[in-house]
Amino acid sequence: MRRFSLCGLLGTLLALVAWSASGRTPLPPDPVEPLLETLSAKRWQQHVFRLSENRGTWSRFTFRVREATIYDGAPPPDDALDQAADYLVRELQAYGYQVVEQVFSHTRYADLSTKQAEYRMRNVIAEKPGRGPHRDRILLLTAHYDSIASNSEGWEETWRTMIAPGANDNASGVATLLEVARVLAPLPLDATVRFVFFAGEEIGLFGSQAYAERIGTEASSLLGVLNLDMVGQEQDGNFDLHAVGDWRSAWLLEALEEVHRRWSLGLRLVLHQDSENRFSDHASFWEIGVPAVLISEEPMPHASSEWDPTYHTVADLPNHLNPSYGVAVGRFVLAAALFLAGLEEGSLPAPSAMGPLLAVGIYPNPYPRQEGGQLTIQYQLNQDAAVGVAVYDLHGGLLAQWEFPEGSPFGRQGLSPPLLWRPRDSTGSPLAAGSYVVSVEAKTQTTSARGTIRLLIVPSVRLLAPYRRSRVGVGP
Ligand SMILES: [Zn+2]
Repeated sequence: MRRFSLCGLLGTLLALVAWSASGRTPLPPDPVEPLLETLSAKRWQQHVFRLSENRGTWSRFTFRVREATIYDGAPPPDDALDQAADYLVRELQAYGYQVVEQVFSHTRYADLSTKQAEYRMRNVIAEKPGRGPHRDRILLLTAHYDSIASNSEGWEETWRTMIAPGANDNASGVATLLEVARVLAPLPLDATVRFVFFAGEEIGLFGSQAYAERIGTEASSLLGVLNLDMVGQEQDGNFDLHAVGDWRSAWLLEALEEVHRRWSLGLRLVLHQDSENRFSDHASFWEIGVPAVLISEEPMPHASSEWDPTYHTVADLPNHLNPSYGVAVGRFVLAAALFLAGLEEGSLPAPSAMGPLLAVGIYPNPYPRQEGGQLTIQYQLNQDAAVGVAVYDLHGGLLAQWEFPEGSPFGRQGLSPPLLWRPRDSTGSPLAAGSYVVSVEAKTQTTSARGTIRLLIVPSVRLLAPYRRSRVGVGP
């Protein structure tokens, strides 16, 4: 039996996931631990240096591309960003990946109607196809590779030649994913893992927006997204790492907490639910309803005294990074990828041993009675299961109930469709302000799990302000 709770407004009160895991299977020896040791601090450091130095340009600014159409007579940029993209392609191909480049363009305007220039940039994509029954499910591991030094004097005028090393922001995230890609390459995975390196993040998340816009129906095959941004700088020795999700991503935060609990990673994991935090590419996936979590050394800019003082300056150089912290983050991301994508059938006991239910979420919670909208109930299954959803008052009185067969839209592996409900009592009147319980039970032939979550109904939205905060998760 395990207990866990997490609260925050625009997220959800995460489940007091109490489950009765019947039919526990004996755990085979853990194949993950030895794999974690194969990540290399030396290789991580080399990637950070090569990406920062970038063939002498010391920049990966997103407008420094080969394909630029200049309309205002300004000198054309060099191809620093493309040099970095070529480096990623070479590295990933060397690990045995098929690499795809997704080209998108961005037009810069002097004013509403006057074009300055159009720049064509590349997202670099490498896929590790799954081989198991869940091979159609895709876990995205992402990081932006462009850089900027807009906090340094003269940037606007001299960005074509000015250095923007971006060692921490975000060569550190790219280096971590390259190391994870190298270790994952030869492994037999159940689900598919896809690495995506975005351009255009620093000027407005343009690479991830282009990617999200083009994903189309494949969005429903996405398990989730882990987006790494600034994971190389550690000042106080606590090795704290922050994971930020929105309410739809509650189950992903839950899974990351399980990864942290299961493997000794030497990190202090801090979980946040904050739908306002749109400071990196994870937000582009929130826009299309895909669970996504930001993984970073700080939850948001200037959040604490540990915030990187070289942020977006010419001083963001490799020498202020901590490779052992970078590799510790790498171990966490590698363990998470193996946990979520699963080594091929039978080799990693992770999901099924926990029961079919990963997490439950309800939104909005607290629910403002006066506004009287629909309440959304959603949950995450790691396998097809028969599901029963019920709402009770605190005396155990049943207020609403739903049953969904295994394999039906609400009984399929993955994030369930939103179950909409207008909180009413048996007479049809709006439920009174107070506490209620939403319970979700998932059953398969061999195992079952139950998740319960407290629903708070408040008279009106005006009473919600005190609930807007995030909660720190677990320490080592
Ligand atoms: Zn960044």
